[in-house]
Amino acid sequence: MADFGRTGFGRLNRAVFGWRPWRRAPRPTVEELGKDGPLTAMVIVAHPDDAEFLCAGTVAKWCDQGWTVYYVLVTSGDKGTHDPSLSHQALAALREQEQRDACRVLGVKEVVFLGYPDGFLQPDTELRGQIVRVLRRYRPDVVVTWDGFRPGFNHSDHRAVGIAVRDAVYPAVRDHLYYPQDQADGLEAHQVNEMLLAGSEDPDYHVDISAYLEKKLEALFCHRSQLGGRSPDEIRRMWGERMKNTRGRGIVESFKRVQIRRSSRPKQTDGQPAETPAVGQRSS
Ligand SMILES: [Zn+2]
Repeated sequence: MADFGRTGFGRLNRAVFGWRPWRRAPRPTVEELGKDGPLTAMVIVAHPDDAEFLCAGTVAKWCDQGWTVYYVLVTSGDKGTHDPSLSHQALAALREQEQRDACRVLGVKEVVFLGYPDGFLQPDTELRGQIVRVLRRYRPDVVVTWDGFRPGFNHSDHRAVGIAVRDAVYPAVRDHLYYPQDQADGLEAHQVNEMLLAGSEDPDYHVDISAYLEKKLEALFCHRSQLGGRSPDEIRRMWGERMKNTRGRGIVESFKRVQIRRSSRPKQTDGQPAETPAVGQRSS
């Protein structure tokens, strides 16, 4: 088995041969989300390149179908290198640019960097509040994030983000008395009814990305600092082989779907960002 190194494509290696966030379609998939028209989605992950591994094919497909997709990066991946010449700040700037390039490939509308230090995330009330704030600002219908309760090996930042997002979606973002400063700043409470948890060991929602695999790879290759010495052509060849092995069943990205249904809430304006720009860089 190829070893692509400890960063970047080491994760691709695990992704392909290990827990596989995308895989052969296990059964015919019913992609219910968006069947009545384009939605607004927010992808909230820990590091630049997480989303490209987990869900870039899905994001490319959604954007192609007219969805509005936002990315939120909790850290800027400022420890993801073995190059001793790179400072935290230089690496963060590099990886933020790589993430912006990937978002441009996919058609993502906007990417928000929260600016937390890589490697030390905690699913605490402070992080939860920052996530509540971006949810209230951008008002997505669907949130994609890490499965924070995946029992197998995982990065602690992935766990922290998955748990913080889940706790932000229910109930904090919905109830205005949580983080009341948001309302004072003009950000109304919001209700998210759909979450797709990526990296789950028990996925039940599968998106056929066969037609978007090339786009996914193109976005992945934007993370040049993480390629681990592999050329895009080598990775593409590997994927070509993998596609052959699907025997025509297609490639999917898989998620655990979590639906939160609460019919008693007043109607809200989904997917319409509030006017205030007061989100993004962390305040402390
Ligand atoms: Zn990561």
